Amino acid sequence: MPAMTFDGRALINGARVAAQSGALFDCISPVDGSTLTQVARCADTDIDLAVRSARSAFDDKRWRGLAPAQRKRVLIRFADLVLAHGDELAATEAWDMGKPVKYARAVDVNSASNCLRWYGEAVDKVYDEIAPTPDTALALITREPVGVVGVIVPWNYPMIMAAWKIAPALAAGNSVVLKPSEKSPLTALRLGDLALEAGIPAGVLNVVPGLGPEAGSPLALHMDVDCIAFTGSTRVGKQIHVMAGQSNIKRAWTELGGKSPNIVFADCPDLDRAVQAAVGSIFFNQGESCNAPSRLFVEASIKDQFLEKALALVPGYAPANPLLPETVMGALVDKVQMETVLRYIDSGKQQGAALIAGGEQVLQSSGGCYVQPTIFDGVRPDMTISREEIFGPVLAVSAFTDAAEVVRQANDSIYGLQAGVWTRDINKAHGVARALRAGTVHVNQYDEDDITVPFGGYKQSGVGRDKSLHAMDKYTETKTTWIRIDSPV
Ligand code: NAD
Repeated sequence: MPAMTFDGRALINGARVAAQSGALFDCISPVDGSTLTQVARCADTDIDLAVRSARSAFDDKRWRGLAPAQRKRVLIRFADLVLAHGDELAATEAWDMGKPVKYARAVDVNSASNCLRWYGEAVDKVYDEIAPTPDTALALITREPVGVVGVIVPWNYPMIMAAWKIAPALAAGNSVVLKPSEKSPLTALRLGDLALEAGIPAGVLNVVPGLGPEAGSPLALHMDVDCIAFTGSTRVGKQIHVMAGQSNIKRAWTELGGKSPNIVFADCPDLDRAVQAAVGSIFFNQGESCNAPSRLFVEASIKDQFLEKALALVPGYAPANPLLPETVMGALVDKVQMETVLRYIDSGKQQGAALIAGGEQVLQSSGGCYVQPTIFDGVRPDMTISREEIFGPVLAVSAFTDAAEVVRQANDSIYGLQAGVWTRDINKAHGVARALRAGTVHVNQYDEDDITVPFGGYKQSGVGRDKSLHAMDKYTETKTTWIRIDSPV
């Protein structure tokens, strides 16, 4: 790979700047343990500056005051620039968080660009409403931007998670302060540069890297932030709701953790496809996906056959340097996450699950963070690996014999993000899909995704939905304007 250089300064009011304190943190690559750059360690004074610049951009209408067709053009130019810089962004993502460069390019770059384009296209196609009223009055129902939107995102899909929030927020005319994860801040900063280059005015999109409690909390607590949109763990998501309530009752939207069940009945229409989806979806992005189907329930009569096919696929996911073009499984994001995953693997062994694939750290001499794709069989519902989100390449498999009982087990989780069901029987498919408490249910596939459909969870998987026109609701206020008509003709 050609040598790359990275700019870790914050983006505030249209300029790349150091943190006010001058503090920095090291951005360490999970690929080989090298230090990629040092990044501005923003804290309350930087957050305050960024919020003030976002507020002044909002107040003087330098973005929301543009005609919708103009905002649309700028957002589409932003989407084009993301594509034009696709190779650089993909390589940055691979160095910064360890995902295979080929997926960073094919999935992360394309999805982020598509998301910006889709909301850009929507800007001049969303109409306001007029309520049905008597002749003596007119009631207009209009949408207005909520104001200054704080965005806090995790490290697993840095560009996509940012795009899912900043695209609808900007499309609606808001100003944004984005805090990326300290584990993978580099592509969010580049998105900020590209937004400026596309013509988004200074101050409308600010990017403030920093640690959660030092930079995220002041944003969530800020009295002049009108809305906080968060993606991350359920643990921190709970604090975000508290901070929103403690401060100015800002609107708080949270996309949180998952422990998604995937139920395969013996009459599944295509066993090979079911196996490929079960294995491919848990090992994609090294298992660091909130919607990964990490609990697999297979009907007992086909379980042995299913696992035989699954084990045959595992060698294809051998971890390797994510910068190599053929790599499909890269590095976990950092040593902390790798140790967490290894601890969960150890707990599975201790609690009596059968380790049938992987389970070890590999490629130690690289200095990076690599863990084998791992499968446990014989997992009981009370085991830690069945209850807690691991966020790594670990699949927990159980057999079942009764549909009602497997649905009960599938729903026995604090999470409700996604679920899968595989059956040829249309009644069973609809019945189980309806009974599953999850924001998305996949039937006879697990990998369909599109910007047109809402994404989010039930229960402790969060509040609100990203993607689709539904997401625009999060970043707009609804205003009713009554107009008296004195002398109806
Ligand atoms: P995390 O909660 O540790 O961190 C998320 C973000 O919050 C980071 O930017 C972090 O700096 C910030 N943060 C941490 N402590 C904070 C605090 N006290 N105040 C304010 N901000 C704070 O999560 P993570 O480890 O970065 O990401 C993994 C989690 O994200 C998993 O639980 C995963 O399921 C979830 N996730 C959910 C979705 C979804 O759409 N539901 C998508 C991706 C990831």
